[in-house]
Formats: sequence, structure tokens, C-alpha cells
Amino acid sequence: KPGGNPQIRPQLIEEHLKRTGGKVLTRFPPEPNGFLHIGHAKAINVNFGYAAAFDGHCYLRYDDTNPEAEEEKYFTSILETVEWLGYKPWKVTYSSDHFQRLYDLAVDLIKRDKAYVCHCTAEEMNADRGGEERGERKECRHRSRPIEESLAEFQKMKEGRYEEGKAILRMKMDMQNPNPQFWDLVAYRVLYTPHHRTGDQWCIYPTYDYTHCLVDSFEDITHSLCTTEFRLSRESYYWLVDALELYKPVQWEYGRLNLTNTVLSKRKLNKLVTEGIVSGWDDPRLYTLPAVRRRGFTPEAINAFVRDIGVTTANTVIRVDRLEKYVRDHLNDIAPRLMAVLEPLKVTLTNLSEDHVEEFTVANKPRDDSMGSHKIPFTRTVYIDASDFREVDDPNFYRLAPGKSVGLLNVPYPITATEVIKDAGGKITEIKARFENDANTPAKKPKTFIQWVADSPKHNSPVKVEARIYGNLFKHENPLDSKLGGWMTDIDSDSLKVHREALVEVGIRGLEVESKFQAVRVAYFCVDKDSDVGKGRYVINKTVGLKEDSKK
Ligand code: ATP
Ligand code: MG
Ligand code: MG
Repeated sequence: KPGGNPQIRPQLIEEHLKRTGGKVLTRFPPEPNGFLHIGHAKAINVNFGYAAAFDGHCYLRYDDTNPEAEEEKYFTSILETVEWLGYKPWKVTYSSDHFQRLYDLAVDLIKRDKAYVCHCTAEEMNADRGGEERGERKECRHRSRPIEESLAEFQKMKEGRYEEGKAILRMKMDMQNPNPQFWDLVAYRVLYTPHHRTGDQWCIYPTYDYTHCLVDSFEDITHSLCTTEFRLSRESYYWLVDALELYKPVQWEYGRLNLTNTVLSKRKLNKLVTEGIVSGWDDPRLYTLPAVRRRGFTPEAINAFVRDIGVTTANTVIRVDRLEKYVRDHLNDIAPRLMAVLEPLKVTLTNLSEDHVEEFTVANKPRDDSMGSHKIPFTRTVYIDASDFREVDDPNFYRLAPGKSVGLLNVPYPITATEVIKDAGGKITEIKARFENDANTPAKKPKTFIQWVADSPKHNSPVKVEARIYGNLFKHENPLDSKLGGWMTDIDSDSLKVHREALVEVGIRGLEVESKFQAVRVAYFCVDKDSDVGKGRYVINKTVGLKEDSKK
């Protein structure tokens, strides 16, 4: 049970459960004005999880009452993301389905003398609410107009006889209540932007404050779960359903989830996208759900993460490494192992013949037969990672250096470097080495085994890939910290590194976009959508490191 919130009155819940035949009904209610982010994964988990725990149902409800901000692509992506996380909405609904009923109830509210049409400007309204200095509050001059007059004015608003901003419907609440959510909230405003579902059928649109509780009520939601910034709205929520004598769900708040070194708000993400700081809403450095999906995070890892941080009323800022640990642990279980080198260095095994080709069968995951195996070629020319060779040796360096031996993963004998070849500029271009396969002079068992890929045109090996390595987009844990001089100045311009000449062994063929693998000794990777898998062109994204990065 989401832990002991004093707001939940047991009798009330029992009453509600009677109405719904004992079913717990929840809803996940995103506004389709952006892509979902990691915080929404928590909201999804809370709502779907709570319903599931009580054998109830959870709706996906698009809270689509603001035609100015909403777009088709967001609707599509939201459902896709919910399903990707493994949840199936009981029903997919839209607040806009209820525009007529919401309108009828607004008329009803006016007739009950609980709403009025107001023509104040935003400034006047703000002044009546005590202004910036939170001074004395006043009821506006339209508040006392006769019911008949408000009805007629509301009709005019609906008929398009008012310009935007010239008339609003306000709820007649309590200007003297200390809770700002009682200061005659706006219920309807005039907007001439066509709505993606209702077109130009309406030119008045209900606000969040007016719509949310009513649609919860229409849908017989038993537990209206929302984040703590709506705590003060709880009373206005109840005020409205009570004013209309409708079934009243119980609102219950939980803390928002935030992550370090990133921003989640749609407005900020939008700025990053439109200013070209990131490649799009699914740039793998972002923490939108499409972005982390593209980066290779799995639904299992995300769900486990949000489940384990738990449901409390505190807003939490979680370090990104904590999320990464869940991803790493899951990928450790499911990702096949492949050999890849990000910065290739050619090694010629001079004692093997030009046409030497052997095939080795390697396990997709060592010590786990259930993941099967694949074959890789081994030839006279192999590529290792440049970082596994040092021209100037060091006793603590256990990889390849002149005169030194190192093991090649999956290969029975080590190799010993015999010669360093450089170009005119002094850059190392090739290492000549001996393959220690002579049974009469066996080399010592190497301390280290490094990854490699073979040059075998016959096997189409190696596979050249573009490897994208991501760091935190922001340098500080809290980019919004006021000491930093603006979050846009905290961007790490070095947060994307691209290895265009990376090489992967043939096992990568057969992987599709979104397939994950562990590049042994390097990191976990995911095949990016920029790949052309059919043509054998791969772009891979670093998902997470193999171990927690101590630098962070
Ligand atoms: P943003 O401020 O990023 O635009 P929002 O709250 O306006 O977010 P909605 O689309 O309205 O986003 O959110 C749908 C649901 O998800 C709401 O119930 C909201 O409270 C919840 N939610 C949004 N962000 C978080 C978060 N960071 N942690 C937990 N729940 C969240
Ligand atoms: Mg919202
Ligand atoms: Mg929002």
C-alpha cells in the first residue's frame, strides 16, 4: 500500500469502493504537451501499480484541455511509452471526450450561484488576489452580477462573441480563505486555437482546476493520485465536486521524482531541443523515456528503480548512478557479450600465414548456456584497442607492450609484441607480434585477456560501427542551483564523444535496432535507430559502464 497518508479516510474509501463494485480505479493523466520523462515512470508505476495491487484498473487519460500546447506526436508517444514500460491501460480516455458534459456542469454551477463570468484583466485579477506583496484580497466587481447575466455572458463566450482574454468563467469560492486555490479559480477561458480532437467545435476550454476533478469523478476514480504540488488543490478539487453534488474521489499525494545532473521540465527540454544543444527529445543524454529507451535502458530496470525508491510524500532527487545501477544489473543478466574496440590498433601475428583462418565458438554469455553461442574468425591480422598497448612499459601494466605478452579473449594462446611500426609523424600504426602457439615453448599464462576483432574479409569481419559515448549533459548535480548563473551555462559541451572508426566482431550482425549487448571490457551498448541494419551499418549508444564510474 502506498504508505500511511493521513488524508485517506477509510470510511470514505469504503463508500467509494461500493460505487465501483469494490474496484480500485486509478488513472495516469498526462497532458499531451511533451514526451514522458523518468518522473512519469514513477507516476505510471504508482497509478498502475496501485490498481494492480488491489486487483483494480488504471486508465490512461489524456488531459487534453489546452489546444495551444498539445500535439498528435505526444499522444502517440505517450501510449507507446506506457506500453513499453509494460502497462496496459484499462481504457484510454480523453478529457476532451467530456467537453459537452463539462460545459453543461459549468452552466449548472452558474445556476447554483457558484460561478460567474468575469472580465478582469490578468493584472486586475492578480491585484484582487493581493498582488505580489500578498496584500488584502478583494472580490471582483463581476462576482455579484446576477446569475441570469452570467448565464448569458457564458453563452456569448461559447458563441465566440468574446476575444481571447476578454471573458472568463470563474468559480465563486472564498477570497478570504488562506489557500490560494480558493481565490475564485478560472474554470473556462476563450481560445480560438483549434483542438486536435474537437477541431473548432469549441472556442472555450476548461482549465485543469475545473476539469481534472470532474473527469476523475465521471470515471469513478477511487484514488486520485497526484504529486505534492497539488496538495493545496486538494481542497479546491473537493470544493468543486461537492458544489455540483457529484461523486467525490479521494486525492492522495506523493513526492515527485527528480534526477541529478539533468532537467526534466518540458519547457527546459524544449529549449535544449530548439537551441540544438541536443539532437531531439530522444537524445540519449536526456531523461525522457524515449531518450533512455534509445540509450538502452530497459523497462524492467526503470520499473525496479522507481519501485525501490518507494512512494513517500517527499520530493526526491536521486543520483543518476543509482538508476544506472539498475540498468547495469539487468543488462548483466540479458545482454549477450561481444568484442569491440573503440580505437582500433592493428596487430599482425607474423608467425601466422597470410591465409590463416580459424573459427572459434564463443558463448554469448560465459557460464550461461541458455544464451547460446556464436562463431568468430581468428586471423593473422587482428585489431585491439589502442589503450591496451603501451610503447613505454610499466611494471603495473599487464597488457601489451614491447616484449610483453597478453591474452586474447577466447583464444587459446597469448601474443607477444615484437615490433612497433610508426608513420612519418611518429604515430603508432601497427604492432607486430608473435602468436605463442608453439607447444615446445609455451608462454606463461597471461594475467590479462583483452578483446580483439579479426580482419577476415571472408567473414565480413570486423564490422565498422559508430560508437556514441554519453556523459552527463550537466556538470553539476543540480544545474538549477542559483549559484551557477543559469542552468544553460552548466551544459557540458563534452558530453557526447563519438568513435567513428570503432570495430565490432561479427556477432553484432543479426542485432536489430534496440538490441543490447555488452562490449566486453568496455561498456553496455544498444543499437541506435540511426543504424541501417539491413545494410550492415551500425550506430551504437553506450548505455552504461560495466562498473560504477568513480569520476562522477
Ligand atoms: P512537467 O512539469 O514536466 O510538464 P507535469 O506534471 O505537467 O510535468 P503531466 O503530463 O501533467 O506533467 O503529468 C502526468 C502525471 O505525472 C501527473 O500526475 C504528474 O503529477 C505526474 N508527474 C509528472 N512529473 C513527475 C515526477 N517528476 N515525478 C512523479 N510524478 C510526476
Ligand atoms: Mg500537468
Ligand atoms: Mg506541465
